[in-house]
Amino acid sequence: LDEELARYASLNLVGEIAASIGHEVRNPMSTVRGYLQLFQRKKQFADYHEDLGIMIEELDRANTIITEFLSLAKNKSFDLIATDLQAVINTIFPLIQADAFRLGHNIQVKLEPIPLVMLDEREIRQLILNLVRNAFEAMEQNGMVCIKTYMCKNETILEVSDTGKGIPPEIQNKLGTPFFTTKENGTGLGLAVCYRIAQRHNAAISAMSGKTGTSFLIKFPNNMKIDE
Ligand code: ADP
Ligand code: MG
Repeated sequence: LDEELARYASLNLVGEIAASIGHEVRNPMSTVRGYLQLFQRKKQFADYHEDLGIMIEELDRANTIITEFLSLAKNKSFDLIATDLQAVINTIFPLIQADAFRLGHNIQVKLEPIPLVMLDEREIRQLILNLVRNAFEAMEQNGMVCIKTYMCKNETILEVSDTGKGIPPEIQNKLGTPFFTTKENGTGLGLAVCYRIAQRHNAAISAMSGKTGTSFLIKFPNNMKIDE
C-alpha cells in the first residue's frame, strides 16, 4: 500500500510539472522542427538530408514524451459520462487492427454484455491503446492480443491480454512508475498514463503475468456515484 501511495504521489508531481512546462517546451521545439523541414528542402543542405531527418525524428520522440507527460497532468479536463464501453472499443478497433496487421500480430475482441460505465471516452481510448501497444511490443511475430469486457463478481472488467514474454516478478511492483522501462527506446510513460487514467476513474488496474503472457485488468467501480 505504501508503494501504491508513493506511486500516486510521484504521479501527481509529474503531472504538475508536465502541466506547467509542457507547453512552453513544445513551442520552441515546433519552431526548430519547422526550420529543419525547411532545410531539408534546400539544395545547399542536400548532403545533410538524412541527418536532418534524424533530427526531426528525435524531436518527434521528445514530443511524444511531452504528450505522455501532459496526459499525466492533474488538472486536465476530464468528464465521467455513462458510456457504452463496447462501443468505445469498437471505435478504436480498426486502428488497432491496422497496427496488428502492420506488426504481424493478431487481435481478438470478446465483448460480453456489461452495463454502462462512467468514463471519459478519450482517456479510456488512450488507456486501451497504451496497453495494446505494450502487448504488441512484448510479442514475437504472430502473437495474439485479446481485448475483453465481462462481469466478474458484480464488477465490470476490461481486460487486455497478450501471448508475449510476460513480466518478470521482480519488476511487477515497478509498473506504473513514471520512466520505468525495460526497452531501449521506451519512455516508461505508457503505463504511468494508464495507472493515472484508472485512478481518475476510481478503477483498479492490475497485471497478471506468467510465461504464457500478460493480462492487464481494469475493474470499474459499479457504484455510479464518483467524486474526483
Ligand atoms: P515503455 O513501453 O515505454 O517501456 P510503459 O510504461 O508502457 O513504457 O511500460 C513499462 C514497462 O512495463 C515496459 O518497458 C515493459 O518492461 C513492461 N510491460 C508493460 N506491458 C507489458 C506487457 N504487456 N508484456 C510485458 N511487459 C510489459
Ligand atoms: Mg509502452
